[in-house]
Amino acid sequence: MDRRTLLKMGGLGLVGAGLGGCAARSAPAPTTPQRPPLRLAPVRAAWDRIIRTTVGLRPHRPSGFVLCADKLDDTTVIHNYGHGGSGMSLSWGTGRMAAEMALGHDSRRAAVIGCGAVGLTAARQLQRRGFAVTIYAMSVPPNTTSNMSFAGFTPTAGLVDDDLRTPAWDAQFREAAEISYRELQLLAGTRFGVSWIDRYGLSDTPPGAAGNDAEEEREPLLPAHLRTGGFTLEPGEHPFPSRYAMRSSQLRIEPSIYLDALVHDFIDFGGRIEIREFTEPRELVALSEPLVVNCSGLGARDLFGDDELLPAKGQLTVLVPQEEVDWGIGGDPPDGDNRGLLGIHMQPRRDGIVLGGTSERGEWSQEPNQEAMQRIVSAHMAVYSAMRV
Ligand SMILES: Cc1cc2nc3c(=O)[nH]c(=O)nc-3n(C[C@H](O)[C@H](O)[C@H](O)COP(=O)(O)OP(=O)(O)OC[C@H]3O[C@@H](n4cnc5c(N)ncnc54)[C@H](O)[C@@H]3O)c2cc1C
Repeated sequence: MDRRTLLKMGGLGLVGAGLGGCAARSAPAPTTPQRPPLRLAPVRAAWDRIIRTTVGLRPHRPSGFVLCADKLDDTTVIHNYGHGGSGMSLSWGTGRMAAEMALGHDSRRAAVIGCGAVGLTAARQLQRRGFAVTIYAMSVPPNTTSNMSFAGFTPTAGLVDDDLRTPAWDAQFREAAEISYRELQLLAGTRFGVSWIDRYGLSDTPPGAAGNDAEEEREPLLPAHLRTGGFTLEPGEHPFPSRYAMRSSQLRIEPSIYLDALVHDFIDFGGRIEIREFTEPRELVALSEPLVVNCSGLGARDLFGDDELLPAKGQLTVLVPQEEVDWGIGGDPPDGDNRGLLGIHMQPRRDGIVLGGTSERGEWSQEPNQEAMQRIVSAHMAVYSAMRV
């Protein structure tokens, strides 16, 4: 039996019931639907409930993140940047891999360039291995791209162009995804703002049909056991205006809580943060630390002349928080109008109901795109106003 069938049966309550067993034979034929009606607290999407629109430039590299050690005179530089739309998901993994590379060095004093999710987690992984760490960064939370993230566990989102993948890179990616998935699970709770949420992937095409879920299409890249199980709610089984709703459990990160907790942990373990901008690699060689981990995100483009790095502008519109909303969505806009949209995404957080998402490759402006904002909010309003409650 393939996994999809298994998942579907799990959803129907058939797995473990023993299809040919006594219980199944003696039970009366069901006269009511097997699944209780799905009731979800409604999202109150309205123009007057918008509290902010934020913009972040994802550090996109068509051939994927860079994770390798290099030499600059006597300084060892370990690069760890270019995580595209997946940095919140993958950073614990690439951070641990970078820290393990650092263990080959005699010194136990390290500098980390960058104080976003990638820099902070790399710094913690170094500290766990006995390094004294200073973070140097021109901006710190709440003023990093990481703070502008939607921040679901989406390890393959906007990460790499398939035709540029190599087996070596794929292996690094898989290792990073495995590590991160485990680390984030262990952080679940209020202190780090990491939690599990039901996500509904809305689609008018049946599960498995091409194009109904970008994540689904990446299955060969992401190991199957890192894809949380789920099942498809058929027409009539869910309150959404789409034909199908693919339900799964997803890790959710609340960036402002998470990054703040990481900063506190880093300092509690003896870390130091210095606000500083570097304009050329020579300045790194002059640091007192003989080991530098470069987690400068999009900043690596200018600092190290990596022209492959490009911004992928993303913006989020945030509505007044609603404590009672405990579910999220992803999927196609209801009218099928996908111009410039990645699909629509909603995630509730303590700081608001977050609506996404856009990706404009090569766009450097950090001003909200008003037209995209209108389209995202309108698409969300169309979904929630058509929901059966
Ligand atoms: C709208 C949006 C939605 C997203 N959704 C998700 C999602 O659902 N899941 C997910 O996993 N990811 C998501 N991402 C992507 C994720 O946010 C990024 O991959 C991640 O934040 C990158 O982290 P970073 O630490 O590399 O970069 P940043 O957070 O940008 O940190 C870079 C750090 O380097 C410093 N720096 C840079 N240049 C220099 C320099 N020259 N000198 C000194 N310091 C320097 C900066 O000041 C900063 O401290 C999303 C992003 C956006 C914008």
